[in-house]
Amino acid sequence: MSNSGYPESYYAATAVGMRDYPILEGARTADVCVVGGGFTGLSAALNLAERGLDVVLLEAERIGFGASGRCGGLIGSGQRIDVTDAEKMFGLERSRVLWDFAELAKQEIRDRVAKHEIPCDLQRGELLGIHKKAYLGHAREVADVLAERYDYPFCTALTKEETRARVSTDDFLEGLYDSEALAIHPLNFALGLARAAAERGVHIYENSRVLEYSQSDPATVSTAKGSVKTPFVVLACNGYLGKLEPRLASKIMPINNFMIATEPLGESRARQLIDGRYGIHDTRFVVDYFRLTEDYRLLFGGGENYRAGFPRDIARFVRPYMLKLFPQLNDVAIDYAWGGTLAVTVNRLPHIGRLEPNVFFGQGYSGHGIATATFAGNVIAEAVTGTASKFDVLAELPTHTFPGGTLLRYPGMVLGMLYYTIRDRI
Ligand SMILES: Cc1cc2nc3c(=O)[nH]c(=O)nc-3n(C[C@H](O)[C@H](O)[C@H](O)COP(=O)(O)OP(=O)(O)OC[C@H]3O[C@@H](n4cnc5c(N)ncnc54)[C@H](O)[C@@H]3O)c2cc1C
Repeated sequence: MSNSGYPESYYAATAVGMRDYPILEGARTADVCVVGGGFTGLSAALNLAERGLDVVLLEAERIGFGASGRCGGLIGSGQRIDVTDAEKMFGLERSRVLWDFAELAKQEIRDRVAKHEIPCDLQRGELLGIHKKAYLGHAREVADVLAERYDYPFCTALTKEETRARVSTDDFLEGLYDSEALAIHPLNFALGLARAAAERGVHIYENSRVLEYSQSDPATVSTAKGSVKTPFVVLACNGYLGKLEPRLASKIMPINNFMIATEPLGESRARQLIDGRYGIHDTRFVVDYFRLTEDYRLLFGGGENYRAGFPRDIARFVRPYMLKLFPQLNDVAIDYAWGGTLAVTVNRLPHIGRLEPNVFFGQGYSGHGIATATFAGNVIAEAVTGTASKFDVLAELPTHTFPGGTLLRYPGMVLGMLYYTIRDRI
């Protein structure tokens, strides 16, 4: 951990507009108390303040301290599951609604960046690399389905050669390029949302962990040094929820995922590796994802674990994943390595809803959370202020409890994850 209270990462080293918010001290009131300062909480708070409510946001550590300030920065179109799977699950009509929500979510990111002039290096484009023979043809199928049934003509299926011309790896057998997906510097986006929220009057408190809240109306939300009496609570803690709310904990599995940033490669070597600055990910169960930074480093995410701690040497843990795709980077030094915790649900769909008439939550974006969490925050704000049309659609998505609940979910989950990881290699 650095002096700033953030983990040492490429994002913390290149943060713009980092500022300190006070610790909550003493008792106060608010129209809404938001718990968690990631994309879900920041978006909920900002949207609520824009609707004229007096909002307090309590963050246990620093703004963007969780997954939001540590993630890959890739903002893919659609939901975490692709449209062919969504159609099998729900049929075309509902799948189409979810797709349209995801398009609104992307638009919300673009709008926020533009409106608040957030310096988060917004880029366009995303390539999916198909790594396995069994998935050949999948890119073409998805591109066709999106063009024909979702009015989305922006995905192009690429042959092996076309994919290789874009990304210099022998690992990809085909590709799918989406010209309207996005990528951002996630910590700077979070810091920009916080600045916008504070300017709209949100009272942000950092280093103010919520220890408990009363299930009453109004509720009292308590930290070590203060409390907030409020008619509405929004829980936005995701993979960092801990024991605060067991009813939410049993629906998600916290997973640690890891990233590295290489030393600057120089523009020409970087462009030989990847032909532009956009996000790339693959079809592996434990996804590899990467992109070039403004200063032409390779930012690479790969590998995860399912226990409480991170590997002692994260760079050593992630590097083999990078070298598997790019053996030509064998001589390149790793300047930053870090990890973060995300929350997955059993079916990889987001878990959004209300626990009590006055307690709302959003979590479990399953690695697809930048746009989905930002959108969820907005939808929760709408619901708090009485418009629940989008909220109801999301709240009705099927959710499952992890077998064994919070106590026993790990062993079963780890076995399941290992099974899929091994199957990936076959
Ligand atoms: C390594 C990694 C890579 C990822 N890559 C991508 C990607 O490329 N694209 C993508 O779309 N998604 C990605 N994700 C997922 C994405 O980052 C998350 O889905 C998203 O940031 C979730 O936002 P959130 O606000 O719900 O949660 P978080 O950002 O985790 O925020 C939760 C916050 O709640 C705070 N908190 C917890 N408990 C309390 C408490 N008791 N009191 C007060 N505050 C509390 C935490 O400190 C934390 O700041 C990645 C995640 C990780 C970890």
